[in-house]
Amino acid sequence: MADGSRILIVEDEPTLSENLYGYLERQGMMPDAAYDGHGALALLRQMPFDAVVLDLGLPGLSGLDVLRCMRRESGLWRPVLVLTARERLEDKLLAFDLGAEDYLVKPFSLAEVVARLRVLVRRGQGDASGPLVHGALGYDPSSQTVTLAGLPLALPRKSVLLLEVLLRPAGALATHARLTAALWPDGPPSDRALHDQVHLLRRRLRAARGPDIVAEPGHGWRLAPISSRPGAGENET
Ligand code: CA
Repeated sequence: MADGSRILIVEDEPTLSENLYGYLERQGMMPDAAYDGHGALALLRQMPFDAVVLDLGLPGLSGLDVLRCMRRESGLWRPVLVLTARERLEDKLLAFDLGAEDYLVKPFSLAEVVARLRVLVRRGQGDASGPLVHGALGYDPSSQTVTLAGLPLALPRKSVLLLEVLLRPAGALATHARLTAALWPDGPPSDRALHDQVHLLRRRLRAARGPDIVAEPGHGWRLAPISSRPGAGENET
């Protein structure tokens, strides 16, 4: 599939970097590779990448340092997919605070990297008003209508607002903070209010055989991949 997205891979592990590079290339993307933080920043200054795959555990300048520099230096920001080892999972919180859009825990499938990157690139190219689609689920921001397999799905107002955040982009983490801000600009009425709203939307989507909503305990929620079976992500917290 022709794609042409320019992707910067920042990964110090040579085999993983090569595998990623080869796979992205076979998907029609245009990858470039950096093996440490300074190399990554140098390439970011030279080329307008569509997205960055950023390992957090880098020698010298860490992935988090790279994120900080990207934020500080004007014009350097790109959508970032963070890669992190399981034992460094706490770093992902810091990465989100620094603006990373999504993360994957090693080991991950190459197909999943590409799927997540495509979402980031689409969002980065910023069609804010166009219809949002996730499998059979559709949402048209201009009319604020939700459809499932082409049929209208009537949802309460707050469920629609919640769904829109989960769809921007579909499958990426929607943090508690983003969801709360979308639903209650002046602050939530109670600590449980957001959980209650997510439960309500999840019930409605399940009843309509739509995608599931998966909890990322302590962080937020994301729409389940469309390939996953209904009932996955049952263990809500
Ligand atoms: Ca590493």
